[in-house]
Amino acid sequence: MRRKLVVGNWKMNGSKEMTASLCKSIISGLTQTGADIAVCVPYVYLSDAANALKGTHLQLGSQNVADQTSGAYTGEISAAMLKEFDCTYAIVGHSERRSYYGDSNESVAARFCQAQKQDILPILCVGETLEQRENDQTFSVIDEQLDAVLAAAGIEAFKSAVIAYEPVWAIGTGKTASDEQAQEVHKYIRERFAKQNPEIASQLQILYGGSVKADNAKGLFAMADIDGGLIGGASLDAEGFLKIYQAAN
Ligand code: PEP
Repeated sequence: MRRKLVVGNWKMNGSKEMTASLCKSIISGLTQTGADIAVCVPYVYLSDAANALKGTHLQLGSQNVADQTSGAYTGEISAAMLKEFDCTYAIVGHSERRSYYGDSNESVAARFCQAQKQDILPILCVGETLEQRENDQTFSVIDEQLDAVLAAAGIEAFKSAVIAYEPVWAIGTGKTASDEQAQEVHKYIRERFAKQNPEIASQLQILYGGSVKADNAKGLFAMADIDGGLIGGASLDAEGFLKIYQAAN
């Protein structure tokens, strides 16, 4: 039985003060333990968040990780550094990274491997643009995104990884994929893994991301292959984020 997981992606939002108060509000509302919950905060607030979360069920993640181990890579943050701040998760391949900062499939695969070297669970984001969906390229785009990571890390690596299906057209737009549209892609991803290793496929957590809110979370999370959500905007409000978490319980 797969556990549900709800992860907040704060993106480039927040302050020291907000990090402390939002973590505190989320923690005070954590009554159930039937699902896992995490927040991926900006790098500079990892220390504040790590202190606020100590000894609680709220876990910590980063929003990216370097594709190299260490050295002359100005501005980058290594997986070993993230490990020092108790990061359980690292998002890799978010569509904003892919489209604004040129994170290619190959660099996403290298980031995925770097996270795993430090026992950090990568949350690998995949998903198509509206144009790709309209041109019937959804599955081929996802295949390419997954193949790059499978080639670099191998199928066994997915025993310790999470996938987030995030249709680009649904991120931050208020447009959510319908429960059925999301389920169709999640099922496709799981079946794809099952062809190589049915056990890994059945254990793999596949999250949905794209304008998930308190009012649409329940329907999405009830679908057979949707194991929780990666939540952007709605994770900045403790009450709304907790309602989404409750929908996963
Ligand atoms: C995201 O940033 O991963 C995301 C899904 O954003 P939003 O929920 O705001 O669409």
